[in-house]
Amino acid sequence: AAKSDGKKRFRFYQPQLSERLQIKLENENALRLAIERDEFILHFQPRVNTATGEFCSMEALARWQHPVRGMVSPLEFIPVAEETGLILKLGELIIRKACAQLAQWKAEGLPALPTSVNVSSRQLNQGNLNTIIATALRDYAIDPAQIEIELTESCMMADTLEIAEELASFQELGIKLLVDDFGTGYSSLSQLQRLDLDVLKVDKAFTAELGVRAEGEVFFNAIVSMAHALHMTVVAEGVETVQQLQLLQALGCDEVQGYYISHPLPAAEIPGLMRRRYLFPVSPLTPA
Ligand code: C2E
Ligand code: MG
Ligand code: MG
Ligand code: MG
Repeated sequence: AAKSDGKKRFRFYQPQLSERLQIKLENENALRLAIERDEFILHFQPRVNTATGEFCSMEALARWQHPVRGMVSPLEFIPVAEETGLILKLGELIIRKACAQLAQWKAEGLPALPTSVNVSSRQLNQGNLNTIIATALRDYAIDPAQIEIELTESCMMADTLEIAEELASFQELGIKLLVDDFGTGYSSLSQLQRLDLDVLKVDKAFTAELGVRAEGEVFFNAIVSMAHALHMTVVAEGVETVQQLQLLQALGCDEVQGYYISHPLPAAEIPGLMRRRYLFPVSPLTPA
């Protein structure tokens, strides 16, 4: 039987090229203005040691505080920034903001937790990301070991000698390289090995399968074995339930990140978590 009742009807509308161009230009102008007006802030989401619950590192995530629309998601503005090339300016701003925040926490005597920043392939292809990061680290007196770079698999797809050399130059500075959203792209195991990357962040789509389908655990098990054989740390993204956390503990996944542990938070809320240090009770597998 057809279940057309209650089914949503969509109207497909193909705007004229000029209209699409107009929208693109409006988005571009809004973003350029927002960069000038310094409307971007960073939220931070903890990464936690799976076995101990210890707050060990974090990810910086960009937010646009729009004066009228409120908080705008990076899922909306990062693609526009990438399309228009504004990601180069915005990306530099984000790196500098992250370093400024780390310097502030350091001045407050808080632990210097490694912090990752997401970069787009355009920033990598520009060829001066190394200088931008090195300058920011120097300006804010941040130890390179404290900054990590999150690359998507598409960043590595280019797979040119230039990219490989650039990635190696980050590691020479002491900067760790993370593969973001692993499993959604097309990176090969040989690429992971050759580029000598440090951390694999498994996409939340795979975490969501844990406890739902047996394949979920099979996949994670294979990833953990492979990553450990390559001397990489494995992080599960998008951990939302205690069941997922327990499965990841049993599977030997090194670190977890997700709403179950903490949402991304404004910088002001991070010191409290640093002082708490353990963000979930130790050994939930064997409760007293
Ligand atoms: P990402 O780097 O994979 O970041 C993780 C995203 O998953 C974040 O979304 C985070 O809020 C969300 N998340 C964390 N835990 C959970 C969970 O348990 N469940 C679910 N459903 N989601 C969770 P956010 O902050 O909206 O960022 C989206 C994406 O935008 C990021 O994905 C990243 O690709 C991009 N992005 C964010 N900030 C930057 C930036 O500064 N530069 C660049 N180039 N991209 C950025
Ligand atoms: Mg990321
Ligand atoms: Mg991710
Ligand atoms: Mg993502």
